[in-house]
Amino acid sequence: MNSRLTVSTECPTCGAPLDFTEGSHAIQCGHCRSRLLVTGRKQLLSYFISPKLDVHRAVAKALVAQKEAEGECRVIAPQLYFIPYYRLTGHDFIWERAAPKPKGEPIDLSGFPPDPPQADLGETLQAASEVLSGVWEFGKRLYRGEREPSPEAEEPPKVAPPQSKRPAVAPPRSGPEPIEEDEVTFRDRYVEKNFIACDLKGWGSYSLGVRPAVLRLELFRKEALEAQGRIVGATLSSEEALRQGMKGAEPVLYRQVLGQVLSLIYFPFWVIRVQRSGEERLIFLDAVSERVIQRDAPVSLQEMLDRSAAADATTIGFRPLACPNCGWDLPFTPEDILFFCTSCARGWQIRGSDLSEIPYEVAALLPGGETPTRHLPMWVLHAEVDRNPSFRFFLPAFRYRRLKLLGDLARRLSKAQPAYTVSAESFVPSQGGCYDQEDAALLARFTWAGLQGKRGMDDPEENPFSVRRATLTWFPFQVEGNGLRDPFVGINLPQNLFV
Ligand SMILES: [Zn+2]
Ligand SMILES: [Zn+2]
Repeated sequence: MNSRLTVSTECPTCGAPLDFTEGSHAIQCGHCRSRLLVTGRKQLLSYFISPKLDVHRAVAKALVAQKEAEGECRVIAPQLYFIPYYRLTGHDFIWERAAPKPKGEPIDLSGFPPDPPQADLGETLQAASEVLSGVWEFGKRLYRGEREPSPEAEEPPKVAPPQSKRPAVAPPRSGPEPIEEDEVTFRDRYVEKNFIACDLKGWGSYSLGVRPAVLRLELFRKEALEAQGRIVGATLSSEEALRQGMKGAEPVLYRQVLGQVLSLIYFPFWVIRVQRSGEERLIFLDAVSERVIQRDAPVSLQEMLDRSAAADATTIGFRPLACPNCGWDLPFTPEDILFFCTSCARGWQIRGSDLSEIPYEVAALLPGGETPTRHLPMWVLHAEVDRNPSFRFFLPAFRYRRLKLLGDLARRLSKAQPAYTVSAESFVPSQGGCYDQEDAALLARFTWAGLQGKRGMDDPEENPFSVRRATLTWFPFQVEGNGLRDPFVGINLPQNLFV
């Protein structure tokens, strides 16, 4: 499954079919135009996928496959099972060793959202070609015996961070030290993992794989599934699933996954019990792709499948998406979790199935910053680090497709500790946000590890920080050509990657 999934349900207002992209928090019914908030965020939500293959065709396909391989057999019993799979998605921020490897690493294009809403193929290809040209440049430098320059080395220095003026000898741990650029490097990626949620020894772990068609998720309903087949219970806990989903083969120094979503998907399989040469065996068919995936499984597997039944599961719900203060329709994009009312200007954040108010500040324009601006929301996290009781982390709250630029912005602004004043002028926010305070705290840890260099990654607990408060703050970014430039360190965010 190398693409986003579609959730298929009905509109709670008018009953019309309602399809939306997995991961959406706010949607609008295409029929009655109701704006709806999708509840259940941060809970383990369950879905199922309907089988496409009926019992007759399943048996016929099993017999054909069997005949081609080993001759005649007799069908004893066909049974449809819904087998649970965990699905983990998120935005992966990774620090890894920068030391060049002799063979070079395979080019991983999975770091780009495979199928974002309204994906522009041109942009995706452009992003992919950026990676390829980056790898190519890196390869050329490697060939010439040069080292990988740091991202910062390529950009003109805008602000001399006070930390870099400190003497390099035995720095006291009173603040962040310059990142050890030649030891660590940043990598971003969109995580998407699907793996079986129960223990079926002897079956291997059948991967749901890459499918050409979009899979449609329906909300888990025990009765609906039991009317068609048997539900297999998940035996892997969600904690263990998170651990397993986060495992990677690559040498990672430090990572944080933002916007993490773990869900449970019950996938349909036909299991046909057959007898051949006096022996009973099982034939497994994927009831969506209609392929025979296992022709010779031991019957003991069926006992395992029959053993555990699924408990009741949580599913998404809906509530009207309107400003709790003034009742105005809240503007949104589907992945938003922070909403701002264009009528009364208040800010709201999804909490469970409710919207809770988030106060915010607006940073005043810097002197001379008169060019057209667009305000973007950031979390300013006030923390005590080492002996510095008033350190501030600057963490983007807005959605942006190149996670690397979000990571760069967080690290360089936090390193610069910019000064600004709070504006008293009236302000109407013009967009939402997709990272909440918890995400901001994770990104702060990631940023902190980066600021400390490799030492901070080897033992992140050695030098922790404590968070005092987080303030959502709108900063005026300057519109420059096709990009938005931050007012302090001059990072340019191409506008076509805002989604
Ligand atoms: Zn409707
Ligand atoms: Zn309002």
